[in-house]
Amino acid sequence: MTQALRQQLIDTALAMNASGVNQGASGNLSVRCENGMLITPSGMDYADVSVDDIVRMDFDGSSQGRRKPSSEWQFHAAIYQQREEAQAVLHAHPVNCAALACLGKGIPAFHYMVAVAGGRDIRCADYATFGSPELSENVLIALKGRKACLMAHHGLTCFDKDLSSALALAVEVEHLAAVYCRILAIGEAEVLSDDEMYRVLENFSTYGIQDS
Ligand SMILES: [Zn+2]
Repeated sequence: MTQALRQQLIDTALAMNASGVNQGASGNLSVRCENGMLITPSGMDYADVSVDDIVRMDFDGSSQGRRKPSSEWQFHAAIYQQREEAQAVLHAHPVNCAALACLGKGIPAFHYMVAVAGGRDIRCADYATFGSPELSENVLIALKGRKACLMAHHGLTCFDKDLSSALALAVEVEHLAAVYCRILAIGEAEVLSDDEMYRVLENFSTYGIQDS
């Protein structure tokens, strides 16, 4: 079971790089397991990672395995501890998300799909040094009522109910960021009203559920 989950983590990390959401070893990915999480190792090319390189961690930071965990494990642990629904956490520095985050900008409701992250906007977490407790706090604040946020001068973090959903969410948020960057270059976006975004969120909650 754990071996299969470890392989799924590697496969999703490789898919994350193939999708263009992540470059090299700057991103990291984790999945909840019994009493803790499995996380990608620090600074390794995912193509070279085998199941035994995946690090098993408790949320207090103690780890088992032959590799050091990603240096950004703290906010992964913080998310699992605060958000029961989080089963997989993805962090990366995708170009368009990072560009907006370096301006301290989140993503407003310029497009209805912004609701994919769970709210009427996608916030940008305040800056703090990578690996610091302050960064975990800032990310949790920006994720309130959401499953994705940008991180000032840094990148993107999101979570979902499983690894493939977390990757799909990251791809969608990076696409929205790309469109928003394009808009900022040529004009100003009108933002959808809160009422409309709540209608979209309501529709999303039943989307894909068949009547029979
Ligand atoms: Zn990072």
